[in-house]
Amino acid sequence: MADAAVVVEKLSKHYAGPPPVDAVRGIDLEVARGEIFGLLGPNGAGKTTTVGMCTTRVVPSAGRVSVDGIDVRADPPGARGRIGVVTQFNTLDRSCTVSENLQYHCRYFGMSHRDAKARAQELLETFRLTDRAGASVMALSGGMAQRLQVARSIAHRPVVLFLDEPTSGLDPQSRIALWEVLGALHDEGTTVILTTHYMEEADRLCDRLAVIDHGEILIMGTPEQLKRQVGVETVVTLRLDGDRAGAVTALSVLPGVDRAEVVEDEVLVYLAEREGPLPGIVQSALGFGLADLAVAEPTLETVFIQLTGRALRD
Ligand code: ATP
Repeated sequence: MADAAVVVEKLSKHYAGPPPVDAVRGIDLEVARGEIFGLLGPNGAGKTTTVGMCTTRVVPSAGRVSVDGIDVRADPPGARGRIGVVTQFNTLDRSCTVSENLQYHCRYFGMSHRDAKARAQELLETFRLTDRAGASVMALSGGMAQRLQVARSIAHRPVVLFLDEPTSGLDPQSRIALWEVLGALHDEGTTVILTTHYMEEADRLCDRLAVIDHGEILIMGTPEQLKRQVGVETVVTLRLDGDRAGAVTALSVLPGVDRAEVVEDEVLVYLAEREGPLPGIVQSALGFGLADLAVAEPTLETVFIQLTGRALRD
């Protein structure tokens, strides 16, 4: 990639333990300027550790990260000036007001008192927090606190914004509000790297994403590319009270069925085309205690299941 904002090369992290864990196993990726790039994977996949190594918080066991051309390990302060970070946890200063949290961050990054004040005001307006400027951060709702954390992370105008599970624990309304904030940052050309285990979030927000599991990248591409490589048009999800393995055997041989498999407590049936096979599937599934059925196009969840045999969701 000619003008990458972030380059990750053979990045690894081994925790000695006990128990010893290879949290990240030699990953390579490049993120273009202005891109929203997602790391999608289940809990424990190595996403937070990867972001930690990109943002100077975790020292890699091997490999290299550069942000805006700066080697993160060789020049941590230089890297920190180019990145914004939103962690999974609320790291706002509880002894300060909403506005002070922004101002002190700006001062830390070398702005004058006057510039810091002006920047804080500008961000409060952008993030619709002006009416809370003087409030304690303790008085903010979860969604507002997360908006303030994003506002603070971009206060020093970083080249790349890293967000670790930015909407985890937020109610649906706050999640959508935050998606809008990230969309606006994207429109302004900010490079964003986010981790998530919500496939809808990855699908909706990311230009490209890497599916990560057990510290390795399993696949990388645009959400559309990833879903297309599943190679089917439709996925029928069946909940059965009866013999699931027997159902898979019966369903697999039906006309129009590409394949079927048991995934956790469900049976998934993959169809090359939507029209045609459904009545036969329902009829067959009734013989195995059909309790519920859903018909959908492949999602990033389907991609994850195809790669790992496991479901992504909690
Ligand atoms: P989550 O969303 O739950 O944070 P994740 O994909 O971000 O998951 P990591 O937090 O990077 O995953 O963890 C990857 C693996 O490394 C896990 O097995 C975890 O237990 C382990 N791990 C993470 N941090 C440490 C640490 N400081 N010491 C030892 N093991 C760790």
